[in-house]
Amino acid sequence: MADVILVLNAGSSSIKFSAFDVAGGALDLAAHGQVEGLFSSPRFVAFNAKGEKTGEHAWAEGTKLEHADAILHLVAFLRGRAAGHSLVGMGHRVVHGGARFTKPVLTNDEVLDELETLTPLAPLHQPHNLKPIRIIAERNPGLPQVACFDTAFHATQAPLAQAFALPESITKQGVKRYGFHGLSYEYIASALPGIAPDAAKGRTVVAHLGNGASLCAMHAGKSVASTMGFTAVDGLMMGTRSGNIDPGVILYMLDELGMNARDIEDVLYRKSGLLGVSGISGDMRALLASSDERARFAIDLYVYRIGRELGSMGAALQGLDAIVFTAGIGEHSKEIRQRVCEQAAWWGIELDAQANDRGDPRISTASSKVSAWVIPTNEELMIARHTLALIEGASA
Ligand code: AMP
Repeated sequence: MADVILVLNAGSSSIKFSAFDVAGGALDLAAHGQVEGLFSSPRFVAFNAKGEKTGEHAWAEGTKLEHADAILHLVAFLRGRAAGHSLVGMGHRVVHGGARFTKPVLTNDEVLDELETLTPLAPLHQPHNLKPIRIIAERNPGLPQVACFDTAFHATQAPLAQAFALPESITKQGVKRYGFHGLSYEYIASALPGIAPDAAKGRTVVAHLGNGASLCAMHAGKSVASTMGFTAVDGLMMGTRSGNIDPGVILYMLDELGMNARDIEDVLYRKSGLLGVSGISGDMRALLASSDERARFAIDLYVYRIGRELGSMGAALQGLDAIVFTAGIGEHSKEIRQRVCEQAAWWGIELDAQANDRGDPRISTASSKVSAWVIPTNEELMIARHTLALIEGASA
């Protein structure tokens, strides 16, 4: 009987899954897919390890599918194909671990209660991340479920890097820079020694450029600073998030534009970034394909903001040995990589244009003072690894 670990990444309107076979300590992706559009037009799709579609289902337009029903659909689908397999544990992506959870943890009622108290720190993600754990625990209380946090990798940052210059009455409530995308950075840190040993040992900035985007300054594989702070809206310009803005703009929106907190949240998280600036799309592919001047300006600003924040990360590291691109835009857009590298030429990055066009792992020339790399991230595998380690630890 082969053991299987199921990884869930649940958001407000979608649940992504990956199933890994545990083969003698190794983890092999067996299936992946998602239920998306939970509250508009729900759709389920599943693929095998080769990327071939193995399952599909669409609910009627306008159906509102609760998370519990989506999970039941998912589990029923996997059960139907699970002959000879046994589910030994589930791993979940949870955005916030707060100050206490700086490592993945086996969940129980007490842990879940505490994680729920962190909802005000990540209201758009935390409740959705936790919901599936409760749903599955009710139906299958004996199944080990592990929560893996996007904040945990940044726990190595010095207090100085995490502090805001605010009064203690506020900072002691947990208001500090946590940093996010930690599972992605942890995966990259784990892959670096095999791909770029000098970058693994040195001062490296990893650019996670997806719908959400951030930079992480790593020294010898440990997080030293990151562009995301108290929430995942800080730092770089993103698909629909603003990235950092003068806090005075928020006061202006409140006092002068008659907006309330929810209106401002909507602007900062869903109507800004590439979408807000271009007025066209938050999707980088769409903007790169557009000849509209506003699309050009949005991309220019996107690249400029990366350059500015790269300077900040380099200062935190006291220099730069390597830069790594990852996530949707970082892995797939040679144009954005080229523009970021050209803008950062003053750091000593010399792009190898042909290697960049091919998407080689190394995209800088052999003589480049700062090396540049493309490494596909794998947050799901990172979660599966943690889940396996905790299950094995618990049964040892
Ligand atoms: P992620 O959140 O990691 O899935 O990344 C999503 C972002 O990657 C979106 O802005 C996509 O437009 C972008 N993306 C994916 N493929 C490409 C591509 N070939 N060229 C440019 N952007 C891409």
